Formats: sequence, C-alpha cells, structure tokens
Amino acid sequence: MFFENCLINFNFVTPNYLKQHSMQLWNTLNKEELEMHLREVGHKYVTISFYQYAKIANPRLFRDHLFLSWSKLDVVGRTYVAKEGINAQIAVPTENLGQFREELYQIEFLEGIRLNFAVDDSEAEFPFLKLKIKVRDKILADGLNDETFDVTNKGKHLNAEEFNKLTDDPNTILIDFRNHYESEVGHFKGAILPDVDTFRESLPFIEETYLKGNEDKNLVMYCTGGIRCEKASAWFKHRGFNNVHQLEGGIIKYANDCKEKGLDNKFIGKNFVFDERRGERVTEDIISVCHQCGSPADTHTNCKNDACHLLFIQCEICKHEMENCCSNECLEMIHLPEAEQKERRKGLNNSNKIFKKGRSSQLKFKANNEKPLSLIEQSIQK
Ligand SMILES: [Zn+2]
Ligand SMILES: [Zn+2]
Repeated sequence: MFFENCLINFNFVTPNYLKQHSMQLWNTLNKEELEMHLREVGHKYVTISFYQYAKIANPRLFRDHLFLSWSKLDVVGRTYVAKEGINAQIAVPTENLGQFREELYQIEFLEGIRLNFAVDDSEAEFPFLKLKIKVRDKILADGLNDETFDVTNKGKHLNAEEFNKLTDDPNTILIDFRNHYESEVGHFKGAILPDVDTFRESLPFIEETYLKGNEDKNLVMYCTGGIRCEKASAWFKHRGFNNVHQLEGGIIKYANDCKEKGLDNKFIGKNFVFDERRGERVTEDIISVCHQCGSPADTHTNCKNDACHLLFIQCEICKHEMENCCSNECLEMIHLPEAEQKERRKGLNNSNKIFKKGRSSQLKFKANNEKPLSLIEQSIQK
C-alpha cells in the first residue's frame, strides 16, 4: 500500500530536517511581491488539473512531500490532499513539465494519471501566484455521509464521440453539474443548468427537480474536469438510477479532443475555471451579459472592495466606470482611507460569505430562476 511506503520514503521530512536545511513549507509573500517574483523568474506556464481517489493514510506527510518536490520545480497552484485522495489545479513551467510528470508518476497511486491540460492559457498572465497545498477532510465537499454508498461503483465514462452520440438521443437527459456562475458563461447545447451555488446542494436538488420519474432515461452528466461527476454518478447509481453516464475528463478533455480529432463541438462559450484566468474560451460565442448594464459579456471579476469580493460578470465599460466594483456602496468604500475601510470591514465577515456566491440584488442583469427553460427542461416539466 502506498501510505506505508509513504512513511518510509518520506520520513526524511522531519521538523528537524527542515530546520537544518532551512526549507520553507509555506509561502509568505503578498500578491504584488509574488507577481514581481514570477515576472523575474520568467517561466512560461502550462495549466494542468488532475484528481485521484486513493487511500492516503498520512495526508500531512504526503502534502509536505509534494510541497517540497513541486517548489523545487517552481510549480504554482492550488491542491487539496485528504485521506480520500488528491485534487490538483496547478501551473507547471513548460521546461519542467517532463521532470514534473516523471516524479508524479513515481507515486504509486498516481502512476499514469490523466493530466487535463488547459484549453486556453491566454486569459491571465499568471494562472496562479503561488503554491498552496492544503490538507482537507475531503478533496471535494459533497456533503455525502451515507456509509452504504460505494463511491467506486461509478457511471459509464463517455469520450467526446460517445458523448455527442448519446446526447443526440431524445431519451437522454443532459445535466450540468457545476454551479450557476460556471454554466452561465458556457455550457453544452440543450443541457439542464441547475441554479445551484455548490456541488453539495446540487445533488438533492437535481434528484428532486429533474430525475424523479426519469429513472429509465439515459442520464448524462458533465463538469469541468470530471471530479464532480465521478462522485455524482456513483451517488445516483446508489439512488437507483441505472443508465448513468459521465463525460470523461469533463469539458477540458472534451474541448481538447474535439479540436484534436475534428469532432463536432457541442459546447458553447467559455469554460469557467478556478484560477486567475476565471475562464478559458472554447468558442467565440458570448452567451451571458454584463450584470450591471446587460450588454453581452462573459468575463468574471471579483468586486474590488475587500469587504465584498462578489464574483460577477462585468463588461469593460462598466469595469472602467465602476472601477471594478459591484455597486455604488462598494465604489464609495474603496475611496475611503485604508484605516477607515478596515474599521468598516469589522463585523462584515458574514456578508462576505453571502456575497461570494455571485448573487446580489445590486446586480440588475444577473440571470435568476426566471430565465427561460431549455427545451429539455420544458419537456421534463410537462
Ligand atoms: Zn456593463
Ligand atoms: Zn461589491
């Protein structure tokens, strides 16, 4: 088992060893310093994601091993390690890619793991500013605590070709397993787009709203890189749905495969991603609007007010006029002296959490439940 090897192979990583070699296990620079540092180093990065469910007995030790080995290669990004596995969204310097892959594949449960390469790396100068590897209870917050649920009994994987064929079948229900702010800027034609804020809340909602009574239909699900469907497909099989399918490698692999193999691409718009790029363009279609003025736009931004940070869609004109803020209140706030901003932020931690979901009554053009139903949604509701 890997975790036993883990203790043997990585037991050089003791606090004493770190002290002796003055190795740093965490980053301590601020955003500007990090950007400056990255510019100085001058790497060209390739953005990669991957995940694996595996039993890791000592996630903390494994985390420290990864941190040291990836720091050495100047890898940046965000990775979660848990007893149930690893979920990584990172950027690797092009010249270190070979070395990175070689070292990764030496880890027993990651040997030959599929790496999802970004469809479009052009949206941000640096997709990530530093390396963060966190130990968590789970690599995906799913809210599932059913002991009888077997996560390895998952749905049938579909490649791009099989996906296209099955979604042409009128007896198929295609469901987007991402959150509302992700599907808003890009999704598959004809997909159901559940209006949910989190994966955790999406499972019961989707079952209740779209799946009940459709047990005999083909259920096809997709997400960004496949990890959410890995869990969801097993869950819905557990719940008694028999024809459960998932898009292998998610939108990222699908878009790459369509390009490579010249297949018909049924995805329209942008693929939302959780790094500084916010999204990668798959097609030129802009299917969403600026939440402030209603004109076509599909660029997400975080409100500039540190007490808000609302994630919303803003066009270039509004960005300029509103100075990257979501509301007049936030605009006023950012012009106050920093000390006063700090004072006002006290006790506002809760509102930050509410705002973060990308919903706010201040945004006039944010699509909500009243958006028109897709054809499939209408046929299911009949
Ligand atoms: Zn606008
Ligand atoms: Zn704001």
